[in-house]
Amino acid sequence: MTKIVKVECIPVSTPLKKPVIMPNTRITSIDSVVLKITADDGTVGFGDSGDTSSWYRGELQESIIAMIGNVIAPRILLGEDPRNIEKIVAKMDLLVRDNNQAKATVDFALHDLKGKLFGVPVYELLGGRTVDAARQGWVLSAGKPEDVAAEAALAKKTGFALFKMKIGYGTMADDIAMVHAVRDTVGPDAYLTIDANGFWDYEKALHIIRRLDPCGLDLIEQPLPHWDIEGMARLRAQVRTPIYADESAQELHHLKEIIDRRACDGLFIKLQKAGGLVKSQRWLTLARLSGLPVHCGCMIGSGLEHSPAAHLWVSNEWATRGLNESIGPLMIHGTMESKNIERGTDIALNIPKFEQGLCYPNEGPGFGIELNEAFLVSNKTAGKEGRVVTP
Ligand SMILES: [Mg+2]
Repeated sequence: MTKIVKVECIPVSTPLKKPVIMPNTRITSIDSVVLKITADDGTVGFGDSGDTSSWYRGELQESIIAMIGNVIAPRILLGEDPRNIEKIVAKMDLLVRDNNQAKATVDFALHDLKGKLFGVPVYELLGGRTVDAARQGWVLSAGKPEDVAAEAALAKKTGFALFKMKIGYGTMADDIAMVHAVRDTVGPDAYLTIDANGFWDYEKALHIIRRLDPCGLDLIEQPLPHWDIEGMARLRAQVRTPIYADESAQELHHLKEIIDRRACDGLFIKLQKAGGLVKSQRWLTLARLSGLPVHCGCMIGSGLEHSPAAHLWVSNEWATRGLNESIGPLMIHGTMESKNIERGTDIALNIPKFEQGLCYPNEGPGFGIELNEAFLVSNKTAGKEGRVVTP
């Protein structure tokens, strides 16, 4: 019997080399929670929540630390066998409503710990390796058409397989001009998408999507607010471009409603949105059963934050058919390949390898991540307290 004897939450802030611009949002720094779960033999599992954002998940560093520190650690984790991840996930869903980013962070640290206890990489716990590396898409921050197009050209040259634009830099006409400029640059065969992050209403979405028809977009992600599944179904019937759901598709019952209403052509997952690796595997099974392709995004985060997606995306066969545009470490460090990232500048000392638009999960037990303890000290979020919970 192995049991959990200590749970520690650390608030960390990581500055971005280049701001990410989205509607009403300009991200210049990532506020995340690093979680350490310690077993009685001294083995420690690590998880990183990735960026917290009030508008996407509604969770903050403070809420994640309070939920884990006040409820999940004392009532579920301490004294429990850390290998019983399915049991712990079921208890979290029973005792805690929503808060999937907090639950996911716990699920990540448990998988890292279990992999270390068994001496295997996490992808071995998830079914074993299906492919060597996950194909990546590149996410373009909103901006001036010529600047976004130049970045897209570089991403194409590097080897990325999808180019995703964010809207909201200027007016609607500016967004439309940006999409035209990027299509002209990457060519007619490139896989080109746009993510509206739920910031359009039905009429606006219909207008813009029709105006973008000549650009041949491969998909539009979350055109309407997360709650408007009926609107997505109506919109989908009116436009030629495939509609993908991100914010609308969180829990399995959301997926079921989307599928029942035929409200989308495909899905985006983020592991923090779905609530961790256990719940993401259920999610992918339902998507597979419904014939819905899945791409994987990220909350923007460190090499540790990216690792759960990296391991899932080489081990789940349905997932490997989609793209893993989980490029948080590259967005933080302002580069398209990990060889350009200076060691010691990230929560992870050994960031997973990103090369020519492919990402390789680290080898070694668990996520294979060496934690950068000095970075956790120097980048502890100013004015916020961590938490250590023991019996
Ligand atoms: Mg999205």
